[in-house]
Amino acid sequence: MSLFDLSPEQQALRQTVREIAQARVAPRAAEIDAKSEFPADIWQVFREQQLMGLGVPEVYGGAGLGYLEQAIAVEEIARADTTSSLLPAVQELGLLPILLGGSEAQKQRWLPPIASGEQLVAFALTEPGAGSDAAALRTTARRDGDHYVLNGGKRFITHGSVAHVLTVFASTDPAKGPRGVSAFVLEAGTPGFRTVRLEDKLGIRGSPTAELVFEDCRVPATNRLGEEGDGFPLAMATLDRTRAGIAAQALGIAQGALDAATAFARERKQFGAAIGTFEGLQFMLADMAMQVEAARGLVYRACAALDEAEAAIAAKLAAGGAQGVRAHRLDAATQTLSAMAKCFASDAAMRVATDAVQIHGGYGFTRDYPVERMMRDAKITQIYEGTNQIQRLVIARALLDM
Ligand SMILES: Cc1cc2nc3c(=O)[nH]c(=O)nc-3n(C[C@H](O)[C@H](O)[C@H](O)COP(=O)(O)OP(=O)(O)OC[C@H]3O[C@@H](n4cnc5c(N)ncnc54)[C@H](O)[C@@H]3O)c2cc1C
Repeated sequence: MSLFDLSPEQQALRQTVREIAQARVAPRAAEIDAKSEFPADIWQVFREQQLMGLGVPEVYGGAGLGYLEQAIAVEEIARADTTSSLLPAVQELGLLPILLGGSEAQKQRWLPPIASGEQLVAFALTEPGAGSDAAALRTTARRDGDHYVLNGGKRFITHGSVAHVLTVFASTDPAKGPRGVSAFVLEAGTPGFRTVRLEDKLGIRGSPTAELVFEDCRVPATNRLGEEGDGFPLAMATLDRTRAGIAAQALGIAQGALDAATAFARERKQFGAAIGTFEGLQFMLADMAMQVEAARGLVYRACAALDEAEAAIAAKLAAGGAQGVRAHRLDAATQTLSAMAKCFASDAAMRVATDAVQIHGGYGFTRDYPVERMMRDAKITQIYEGTNQIQRLVIARALLDM
């Protein structure tokens, strides 16, 4: 029994995604990891099952689901395979700047193929010198007639090498610092844009993480999202929302690791008995289950808060309140909950997956069992979309009102 009451529709969604994930994703997880292979076949399955545009409003061809429903879907996929859960999660990350900051014409142009999953989208903010301090980005976008000319580079961009469309953050006025950052939609194939390298990673090995370069890359001015200077608030408004998705991914990894450890503890015999009969391991399993259930409560609560905050913002916009990118900034309480969920669930995933390996003994250290992959995959959830140190800063600053 969950501590969080889901509606019948939400429970049905969980069941549907669970069946897809267990039947189609789980059997491929080890191979995707071993071959460091982008899971194009799983992308195709998710397209067919309409799992690629979960958060896109129906008017643009998406499923129109809220953050809680998206979290449930990502959790169930990550329970089977973290790399595959990035397919819908990174779509949401890449498309949100268009949804929050784009004009009606821009939304109609780019969102439908992203919502159907025909096109992949990536979010390009991080640079070699600008990670946690994203505002320190150095990529420039110089206006030249009816185009902007992009120069610079990005690092660690998930799906950057396979995306058809990328939301790119670049400075149109370096003297203004974060206030001079603007956001652009860049279509793959634009001259001057290329992938120079893919990372060889500890985990999520099937998910391509790209280093990108822009050399005199000309982007039409009509591809700018919002006004010049709207880029940084747009990036933050996006990440405040998508952190809950990473929290859900971490929750799925933790649940998957707990499932595997529980099954192993029932079957593995030592000293003439199943190892699950030993109190030392029972206490470990009980602690793992508590971590998972506590994470689930916090993740779902954060998502429910995000859904309420989004509805309040939509109502204000509809009533003619302040328009523009800044109107999408979330209230501090919701931002904090999102940070708490990401931080807690990813720390829980790391602990639970590590303990799952321990419960497997030597077998857990081999690729014959999924828990070593889950342990490697869990690590990234403590790092990307804002490290857990940065999440703790967000939480502490809200507490201290600083
Ligand atoms: C696999 C992968 C996929 C990624 N996908 C994307 C993507 O799709 N798009 C994108 O834009 N980015 C992406 N990233 C980038 C990711 O968000 C950054 O790596 C992350 O924000 C940290 O930045 P950094 O790596 O430069 O570390 P740094 O910022 O250099 O941090 C190094 C260490 O210092 C700590 N630290 C930094 N500042 C503080 C502080 N003020 N107080 C306390 N501790 C601090 C950090 O917590 C960390 O432990 C991805 C990264 C990886 C590894």
